[in-house]
Amino acid sequence: MKYVSTRDAGRAYSAPETIVKGIADDGGLFVPSSFPTIDKEFLASLSEMTYPERVAKVLHLFMDEFAETELLSFTEKAYSRFDGDPCPVVKIEDGLYVLELWHGPTFAFKDMALTLLPYLMVESKKKLGVDETTLVLVATSGDTGKAALEGFKNVKGSEILVFYPEKGVSTMQKLQMVTQEGNNVAVVGVKGNFDDAQTAVKEIFTDEAVKAKLKEKGKAFSSANSINWGRLAPQIAYYISSYVDLVDCGEIDLGDKVNFVVPTGNFGNILAGYYGYKMGLPVHKLIVASNANNVLTDFFNTGKYSVKRDFHKTASPSMDILVSSNLERLLFELSGRDTDLIKKLYQDLKEKGEFTFDLDLLDNSIFEAGWADETETKDAIYNYFDLDDVTFDPHTAVAGSVYNDYSIDTEDDTPTVIVSTASPYKFPIDVLDGLTGKREKDPFKAMLKLQYESGVDCPGELYYINEKKILHTKVVDKDKALDAVLDFAL
Ligand SMILES: *Cc1c(COP(=O)(O)O)cnc(C)c1O
Repeated sequence: MKYVSTRDAGRAYSAPETIVKGIADDGGLFVPSSFPTIDKEFLASLSEMTYPERVAKVLHLFMDEFAETELLSFTEKAYSRFDGDPCPVVKIEDGLYVLELWHGPTFAFKDMALTLLPYLMVESKKKLGVDETTLVLVATSGDTGKAALEGFKNVKGSEILVFYPEKGVSTMQKLQMVTQEGNNVAVVGVKGNFDDAQTAVKEIFTDEAVKAKLKEKGKAFSSANSINWGRLAPQIAYYISSYVDLVDCGEIDLGDKVNFVVPTGNFGNILAGYYGYKMGLPVHKLIVASNANNVLTDFFNTGKYSVKRDFHKTASPSMDILVSSNLERLLFELSGRDTDLIKKLYQDLKEKGEFTFDLDLLDNSIFEAGWADETETKDAIYNYFDLDDVTFDPHTAVAGSVYNDYSIDTEDDTPTVIVSTASPYKFPIDVLDGLTGKREKDPFKAMLKLQYESGVDCPGELYYINEKKILHTKVVDKDKALDAVLDFAL
C-alpha cells in the first residue's frame, strides 16, 4: 500500500515512511493511495478473533510492509495494557449502544492507537534503516499528551515532548501529564489554547533550519498526533470490530447498516470511521458531535469553515479546537482527491481564517453534524444516567446530546453506536455536577462522590495521582515553543 500527501499526489510514500515522517514535507497529510475493501466474508472472518488479531488483520491491509504476525506481536503487547476487553460494546437501549474506548492505561480513547504507535514507529525505522533518534512532538488538548507519554516513555531511540494549553485542560489531565516519569520525556505548558500549541508544533515540524540543526544531533521529528497515519490506522479497527460484535451478539444481521455518533475535535476519531465506511463497512450515518466550539457543525451545514469566532473553554476540553486538522483528509476524498483545491483551501485558512467548500458534496456525504452547549451537555449526563443507567464523561455526553437531537429530528431508527471517548473519572467535577447538580471543587472528593452516585469503580491510578511527584513545571509563551524544543533536543 502506498500513500500520498493531500497537497501533492505526485510522490508515493510507504507506510513506514508515513509513520516516521508524521507529516509530509509540503505540509499536507498522508493518505492511502486507495482503500482496501472489506466484504461480508472478511467481516465474518473476524468474528472468532481476539481484538489484537482483528487489529492486526485490518492494519495489514494498509501496511503490507509488515508481516501480519509481526503486527500481531505488536497489537498483543499494546492491548495487554488494557483492563479486559479493549473496546466493549455496551447495549443501553434497543438499537442504542456505547462503544467504550477508555479501558487503556490513561483512560481515554487515545490509548487505542498510542499504545501501539511506538511499536510501529520503532519497527518502521528499522525497516527504513533510519538510526536517528526520533523526537516525537505532541500538541495536546488534554488526552493525547498523557497517552503518548505512556506509549513512548523509555522507548529506545525516541524522545517525546508534549505541549499542552496551560489553562485549557482538566485538573486530572494536567496531573496525569506533569507527573509523567521516564528518561526521555518532557512536558511544557503553553500560554494559549490548543490551536496555538498545534500551530506552533506544525510550524516547527516543517522548519527546514530547525530540522537541519536536529540532524546534526542525529535526531529527526515525528508526530504522535492524529496527523500521523500510525495514529489513525489503528482507530479504523475498532469501528470494524464493534460492528462485528453487534453481529455476533445478534443485535444486527451481517450487512445491516449502523450509525456512529462521535464526539469530535481534531476529526481523527470520526475520520477513522469514515475510512472504515470507504472500505465497505455498512455505515448509514456518521454523526459529528461538537461542543460550543461548533466550527464543524457550521461547516457541515453551510460549507463555510471559519475560525474567526470566539474560542470557548468547555467541560469537554479535548474538543476545544477550532482548527480541526484531519478535516483536510476528508476534504481530499470528498473533492475527488483534488490536491490543488486542498492547497488553496488551506492557504485561505492561513491567510483569511476561513474557506468555503462545495455544500453539495457535503450534503451528499454520509455526515450529519450537531453540537451541544454546556447546559445540554450537563443535561445529557443526567438523562443518560437516569434513563439508561450509564455514566458518560462530558465528551461522550456531547455525543449523547447530539444523538438525541438527531433522532428526534430525523426519526432515523438505524441501530446506533455512541462512541465513548473517556472515563468519567478524568472529569469528576463536571460529571458529578451533571449527575447531582452540585459542584464539588476538589476533584478527589468529587471522585469519591461520583463512585457513590454512579456505582462505577474509580481507577486507582487516578485516585492516587496526588501522591505522585510533580516533575514538569515549565510554561512558555506560545511564540517560545521553538525555544523549548531546542532546549530539550540540543
Ligand atoms: C481527543 C478526544 C476527542 C476528540 O477526538 P478527535 O480525534 O480529536 O476528534 C474526544 N473525546 C476525548 C475524550 C478525547 O480525548
